[in-house]
Amino acid sequence: MASDGRTADDATTVVYLGGFGRSGSTLVERVLGSAPGWVNVGELVDLARTVAPHDELCGCGRAFSACPVWTEIGEVAFGGWTEDVLARIRSAHRAAARQRHLPGLLRSGRMTSPALASLQDDYAAIYRAVAEVTGARVVVDASKGPALGQAVAGATGIDLRVLNVVRDPRAVAWSWQREVVRPHDVSGTDHMWRIPAHRAAAQWSGLQVEMELVTRFGGSPSARLRYEDLVSDLAGTVETATAAIGLPVRASDLPLRDDGVIDLAPSHGLSGNPSRFRSGPVQLRRDAAWATEMPRVPRAVVTALTLPLLHAYDYTSDRSARPGPGVAHDAPPAASDRRILT
Ligand SMILES: [Zn+2]
Repeated sequence: MASDGRTADDATTVVYLGGFGRSGSTLVERVLGSAPGWVNVGELVDLARTVAPHDELCGCGRAFSACPVWTEIGEVAFGGWTEDVLARIRSAHRAAARQRHLPGLLRSGRMTSPALASLQDDYAAIYRAVAEVTGARVVVDASKGPALGQAVAGATGIDLRVLNVVRDPRAVAWSWQREVVRPHDVSGTDHMWRIPAHRAAAQWSGLQVEMELVTRFGGSPSARLRYEDLVSDLAGTVETATAAIGLPVRASDLPLRDDGVIDLAPSHGLSGNPSRFRSGPVQLRRDAAWATEMPRVPRAVVTALTLPLLHAYDYTSDRSARPGPGVAHDAPPAASDRRILT
């Protein structure tokens, strides 16, 4: 029984996307959020950390403070996004759900601490308010961090399911080499981080090991979803992954056209990839630029550093480096084509 008297029976169902940055989680959450009764909220972890403090743009294009949906969610959950509420969430996250807390979170089961209980109560309140305000029965959170996912997995009031979103680490490392201007920044001087290939590979491996621990021992229904499978067979991949976590979505539930184009409605996803602002008809295309553009040495370094998991995730066959079916090799880069989302 939670502090507000709710039971597990009226818990909010949440699909938590885990994984490493630039692995396609924004695309996954937008696709899942297009299913009837599902809603995507972006990277909720950044709400108290950066989005509200800096009034960053919501996926709907409005500033966070001007978005009617997030304003109402804050009112329902806390009577408003006050600085006290935001500071409490930040503090609890630092004290209970950072990377170094993961072993304890996996060991402790239902044991808790004041900070963890506070974090769980606040996340339960946010998820419940999202469901109430949007009318959705499933909330998709693309926060990605394994420790935060495991922290909220134990909460009364949250029925958590986990999808481990995986992408070939050579594609991920190459993506981190390319510069992207943060979309909320109008000056064009605030760039998203860049990470050297060897460091991206080491961090990718570390994070994927943590995700494997969460999915195997975390106690939540879990499945793995490969980015490459999604862009090659969107309907089949969504059907398989959602069935595996007990929340089956059928191909006919998705706004898919016969030609493979998906009609994405605007969403209120926070933080994450600039593609969160795109809506309308979207042609999915595998971004396999790394296979032709990535220099030999950093590619070999990433391959060597990630080899055990490359095998485990079936990324060692040649087909993982090829573009998806029906895609021209001279397709324009995603950033310059609003109808292509990667
Ligand atoms: Zn919005």
